[in-house]
Amino acid sequence: MASPSLVWLRDDLRVADNPALRAAMDRDEPIVVLFVLDEESPGIRPLGGAARWWLHHSLNSLAEHIDGLGARLILRRGAAQKVLADVVAEIGAGAVFWTRRYGGAEREVDSAIKAALREDGLDVASFAGSLLHEPWTVKTGAGTHFSVFTPFWRACRALPAPRAPLPAPRSLDGVGRPPASDDLDDWGLLPTHPDWAGGLRDTWEPGEAAARERLHVFLREEVSAYDRARDEPSAGATSLLSPRLRWGELSPFTVWHEAVAVDGTAGFLSEVGWREFAWHTAFHFPDLATRNLRSEFDAFPWPRLHPRHLEAWQRGETGIPLVDAGMRELWHTGFMHNRVRMVTASFLVKNLLIDWRRGEEWFWDTLVDADGANNPFNWQWVAGSGADAAPYFRVFNPELQAKKFDPQGLYVSEWAADAPDEPLVDLGETRKAALAAYDAVKRSSRAES
Ligand code: FAD
Repeated sequence: MASPSLVWLRDDLRVADNPALRAAMDRDEPIVVLFVLDEESPGIRPLGGAARWWLHHSLNSLAEHIDGLGARLILRRGAAQKVLADVVAEIGAGAVFWTRRYGGAEREVDSAIKAALREDGLDVASFAGSLLHEPWTVKTGAGTHFSVFTPFWRACRALPAPRAPLPAPRSLDGVGRPPASDDLDDWGLLPTHPDWAGGLRDTWEPGEAAARERLHVFLREEVSAYDRARDEPSAGATSLLSPRLRWGELSPFTVWHEAVAVDGTAGFLSEVGWREFAWHTAFHFPDLATRNLRSEFDAFPWPRLHPRHLEAWQRGETGIPLVDAGMRELWHTGFMHNRVRMVTASFLVKNLLIDWRRGEEWFWDTLVDADGANNPFNWQWVAGSGADAAPYFRVFNPELQAKKFDPQGLYVSEWAADAPDEPLVDLGETRKAALAAYDAVKRSSRAES
């Protein structure tokens, strides 16, 4: 009797360099591949709108790919533990394999499932596939985790090189009678009333094949401009790989090995290192999206939320051209250039004095690369409450930033030509108010120590 292997995909929507899939192939039993839309397990953060759009299309493309290889992608919805128990029973699985996740709630769900399935006598194994280094393997001399990027990255570089990526399968041995699958269209991941996704459709092609193509074009034709122009939002000099890495259409091992083989990629790879650092931080601090990493920031005197200000920021109607351009790019494409993410985030927190969590939530809902670690980590970095944060006294001046990084106004005229020209707030006065608030935090932390 066959005892099929179940491969449970989560943030690893690919077949190449997928160690869980490889383990199933090595077991030489028929394979079932499963994706669970889990909106029920406690603590799992519901996906935002743009992320749901990406997921729909990435799953669509993956299902076709797996079908072509000879197996089937089964879609189910519900609490992962219940769904896995059901599918294991339906197919008479003998083994379950997956790629590890590193969020706090996700780890709890996965450990409970692992324990329950093992108790039932199944062979269960999880694999490293989403980070170059497991978070518990990168430590300071004192055995603690790093809170500053440069020594963190130096320590990563001193470790044995990340393993080589595993080859993509040429075929998969599926089960004779696959279990029932939900219809992806019934999951309602795409917006309908209204359909706001036109700009996303024009900008992106989700899926593993397009991700590989993007990596190759970037490394072949564009990476030489990266160090010089990566901060210029209109230059198109960055890789645009963030949603690919977020959804695991590409593994970081593939990105790493293909990039180190090309000259002049150290700067690009150190950005991939920031992703690594954000995830290691989230691993050690699972409440990253809701709690200040530096607890002294709990004393930050946030004024009462001005709903009109938050809305103006979200809509790109602040009257500050670079901020409005960024927020409009985000709304239209589900993406925003990194430099502009920093400027728009700084403006929200330090000129509008709105709690960084409100901004993080908006980005979470609107970014196609909305990432459980990168998003809150970077928001805390900008706010000053985070690991290796921007110094509290650094308030980006969006006008100077525009002069420096968009000197000809190309980015602003592409996205915000018709934005209001009356600033919502006075940049100088609000900067002073922010510095006073940051001083209050500093004083209160001194008084405590
Ligand atoms: P490249 O410059 O080509 O970088 C290559 C890869 O390195 C990226 O794809 C990404 O995976 C990683 N990377 C680059 N910069 C960072 C960074 N600062 N922190 C962590 N990883 C990085 N990135 C996300 O992937 N998801 C998010 O939700 C997210 N939210 C952010 C929120 C704010 C307020 C800020 C300031 C930054 C945020 N970033 C986030 C980081 C960064 O802006 C994006 O990763 C980057 O703009 C993606 O473009 P790219 O792929 O062309 O980057």
